[in-house]
Amino acid sequence: MHLSLEKVITQIDKDVFLKRLRTIYALMDLKYNEAAAYYGFNCTGCEDNCCLTRFYHHTVLEYLYLLEGFHNLDPEEQTEIKDRALKVKRKSIEADKKGKPVRRMCPLNSDGKCILYSSRPMICRLHGLPHELHKPGMDVTHGPGCKAFSKYCSKKDYYKFDRTPFYMEMASLEKDLKLAAGITMKVKMTVADMVLYSGSKFHGSRFKVN
Ligand code: SF4
Repeated sequence: MHLSLEKVITQIDKDVFLKRLRTIYALMDLKYNEAAAYYGFNCTGCEDNCCLTRFYHHTVLEYLYLLEGFHNLDPEEQTEIKDRALKVKRKSIEADKKGKPVRRMCPLNSDGKCILYSSRPMICRLHGLPHELHKPGMDVTHGPGCKAFSKYCSKKDYYKFDRTPFYMEMASLEKDLKLAAGITMKVKMTVADMVLYSGSKFHGSRFKVN
């Protein structure tokens, strides 16, 4: 099949899924803000900006949600973001070829702020705070906060921030969406990829960029 992912999705009622995603995001934000308030942690940007990190996102849901916000921007801004995304992509490929680490600013970051803050993916919402994860049949794993958190807030006792229910809800909703749309492909995209691949055709198990 050679349809864009968005075209495949138009064959189902994607709003039902995006509404459920909004509910998950709202709970995620609520729990994050509760934990951040306990620590007195308030991210205002820092040198070790997490928007410089190459985060991969693994759900069609997050792709659709981000693109919904992207397509509501005026066309000129969309073009500017796509240009930045292309530069990020090229520099990332160059760095990968040389085996060097990649630190490029996300194309959605403008003057230190996220242009699509309300549409940002899950990891952008959860990053920064110490957390725990409960994987079935395994010991609980703990993740640290970001560098800014360690600098300003690490003296306080740990506040239980469990990412497990959010990961599970996302996985379950993603499964439902893929089943409804007949999608079997795996997703692994940066935000730059999402912006660039918008409208691209795909086949088999991966995206094919036009
Ligand atoms: S989507 Fe927004 S919050 Fe996430 S990395 Fe990009 S600019 Fe930063």
